[in-house]
Amino acid sequence: MVAAAQQADTNASGRPEAIIIGAGIAGMYQLVRLRELGMRVQVLEAGGDVGGTWYWNRYPGARFDSESWTYGYSFSAELLQEWNWPEHFAAQPDTLRYLNHVAERFDLRRDIRFNARVNAAHFDDSTNAWTVTLESGEAFCAPLLISALGPLSAHTLPNIPGRESFAGTAHHTARWPCAGVDLKDKRVGIIGTGATAIQTIQTIAREVGHLTVFQRTPNWAAPLHNRPITAEEQLRIKASYPEIFERCRQTSTCFIHQTDPRKALEVSAAEREAFWEKLYAEPGFGIWVGNFQDVLVDAEANALASAFMAKKIRERVKDPTVAEKLIPKNHGFGTRRLPLESGYFEVYNQPNVRLVDINETPIECITPRGIRTTAEEHELDVLIYATGFDGVTGPYDRIDIRGPGGLRLKDAWADTPRTYLGMLAEGFPNLLMVLGPHTARGNIPRNIEEIVDWLTGLVRHMRGHDQARVETRPEAVQEWADHVEQAAAGLLFSQVRSWQTGVNRNVEGRDVLRVLGYYGGAVAYRRQVEAVAAGGYRELRFG
Ligand code: NAP
Repeated sequence: MVAAAQQADTNASGRPEAIIIGAGIAGMYQLVRLRELGMRVQVLEAGGDVGGTWYWNRYPGARFDSESWTYGYSFSAELLQEWNWPEHFAAQPDTLRYLNHVAERFDLRRDIRFNARVNAAHFDDSTNAWTVTLESGEAFCAPLLISALGPLSAHTLPNIPGRESFAGTAHHTARWPCAGVDLKDKRVGIIGTGATAIQTIQTIAREVGHLTVFQRTPNWAAPLHNRPITAEEQLRIKASYPEIFERCRQTSTCFIHQTDPRKALEVSAAEREAFWEKLYAEPGFGIWVGNFQDVLVDAEANALASAFMAKKIRERVKDPTVAEKLIPKNHGFGTRRLPLESGYFEVYNQPNVRLVDINETPIECITPRGIRTTAEEHELDVLIYATGFDGVTGPYDRIDIRGPGGLRLKDAWADTPRTYLGMLAEGFPNLLMVLGPHTARGNIPRNIEEIVDWLTGLVRHMRGHDQARVETRPEAVQEWADHVEQAAAGLLFSQVRSWQTGVNRNVEGRDVLRVLGYYGGAVAYRRQVEAVAAGGYRELRFG
């Protein structure tokens, strides 16, 4: 710590006015905005380059499920006009190429330190400054700390005995090597069947010699219907960006899809079926967030939607026993983040693919040769962990964040996060969070831009009023906490275990359902945060 403090002192002359942790979509945009205020900013990024999620998640088949033309930054008309998305749902290499282009275009890299994993961030109550220490021991000091950690950056490995003993090649999907992995004709095993696994499985199934999928919980999944963007579409998209982003502003998830005002239980069976067939045949998340308004809140409506989706799986998977295993039984359609797929279910019709339901034959251990279940040993050359993330709060837990009096954020959030608007953490002055817990989440870049703009407004206000410190007020935090709980209460999704409800069985203590997002919708969220700004931030305390 002494060395770290000395280093902090040495940095004092060119001391940044703000430190941003993370150079993904959020951190990059926050840097752009703070520079506009004329601030000196230091971004600290664990990865070797920009991109965050899109830097780390290079697994085969990685691509996003948001329409490409709704995903990019909207702040620069020139950027929008010069960038051509090649597909309606872009693949990871294209998204990373885009973020590299943004970094170059706005000369962002000069303020970013790469390979700089933050270990600790401690607030000094007497100087109102954060000291941020890297894994290397180097430290940086600044009055403001902005976390742009991403809700899905703390990946987790399965807690299966013998993991270290595996003699073949093993990778988590979020740490896929840049050079790729040779899977041709190999015996490959994959643990997990979430959105990541589904993309990986459908992409590698033809290339590998044999694929064994170890499934604990099947997930509902709907067709992505991706395709290239034609030259004509490209022109149309570029001409209509203002309308596209305005449309995203009007929906509750910031996607172009809007919930249908009808109720599944109020229309005829024929109308219901026709609508679901239409949605199933359309690209993107329409079937999830553009469905009948009662599907995600009413158990009966949800059961009907689940039955429709189950029918589709039975139609697509030839072996009825395998089809039944692929149909979720412990959660309804859309109550977990819906994976979108391209031929996923048909993979199980291939002779070289085997589905192992580990509820029937649990994994006992990982051995040097592969995976041993209670029934047999599966010999593998390559093992893929598509086992997900300690969502939302996990990235915060992995940094030793301490506020006044040494209060640890991890302890303060042990039961549940305590925030105001999801952007400030109770008990941690001058810590501003982009996409922290209790913010609206949907089409992520859209959410990020709004949050970053709001935080930038707050920083501008502080600078304009010579304020060195901002923190929450207890009554405002409690009011927000109650509101966040109420907004989540009626949703079927709130009762289902997933990363979105804070459950991760590979992490100790992550087995209780929590509310980690704001589910009153992006429009309501925006209305509330804008009102706080318009009122002069009276709900916050300045010093
Ligand atoms: P995930 O949805 O949490 O899935 C993890 C999978 O691993 C689950 O099937 C889980 O089973 C399984 N698993 C974990 N530990 C296990 C263990 N010890 N033994 C056996 N199985 C185990 O994670 P993800 O697939 O990485 O996706 C996370 C989120 O990333 C998505 O929901 C989405 O928001 C985002 N994502 C987006 C895209 C996109 O935009 N296209 C693509 C990929 C991911 P249980 O369900 O039983 O726990």
